[in-house]
Amino acid sequence: MFLVGLSGGIASGKSTVVAVFRELGCAVIDADVIARQVVQPRFLAYQQIVHYFGSEILLENGEINREALGNIIFSHPEKRQLLNSITHPKIQKEMLKQIFKYFVLGYRYVILDIPLLFETNTVTRFMKHTVLVYSDPQTQLSRLMKRNGLAQTEAEARIASQLPLDEKCKLADHVIDNSGDWESTRRQVLRLHSQLEDSLDFLLVRLVAVTAVAGIGGLVCFLLRHFLP
Ligand code: ADP
Repeated sequence: MFLVGLSGGIASGKSTVVAVFRELGCAVIDADVIARQVVQPRFLAYQQIVHYFGSEILLENGEINREALGNIIFSHPEKRQLLNSITHPKIQKEMLKQIFKYFVLGYRYVILDIPLLFETNTVTRFMKHTVLVYSDPQTQLSRLMKRNGLAQTEAEARIASQLPLDEKCKLADHVIDNSGDWESTRRQVLRLHSQLEDSLDFLLVRLVAVTAVAGIGGLVCFLLRHFLP
């Protein structure tokens, strides 16, 4: 099995592309969903966040107000670091659990849908392939304005706060151009899916796992034969 990191820019069509991969039966792990799960009230990260940031970052229903927390860390880099040090290990642990599950289930590749994949290049080195969902600037702007009901200046500001898609293109192994219609995007996803399915990259990890299991099995047999009466 191998890992495929997938990302995009705001309203470039990441959710649209992920929906097609899911429809094809692919294994997809959504980092954003996990990031929301680990801060639910029943988890340890929740208690730690309330301890350090105070109960004023809570909503009336007791859940964490992500917007309020986002505003705090936006202007305080040291608080961002503190929050990351609380949440990142838990997110990574949950992702590893899910990756292992898909490995056991026999998937050839697993897609990791990570919003800031290309901004944080510490993650990309674990990916065998990286995919960027691209759309041209004009299309991205108009889709964002329409989807979020934003004025042009507001939408432009949100796009400008991210690394430009053209820059991300240079960092990605594969680019899905979602500037056209749904059908064109779907065709590109189908093509990439068969390319990834046909790739023999998955064999390496399987081979290592089989060798490790066989090695441990052999050792156990050897020990039993020699040390049991
Ligand atoms: P992201 O997940 O990257 O923020 P979405 O997949 O939500 O972006 O797409 C942004 C908006 O553009 C959505 O409203 C979606 O329905 C629309 N959209 C995405 N791809 C296309 C397409 N190929 N043609 C027309 N509209 C699209």
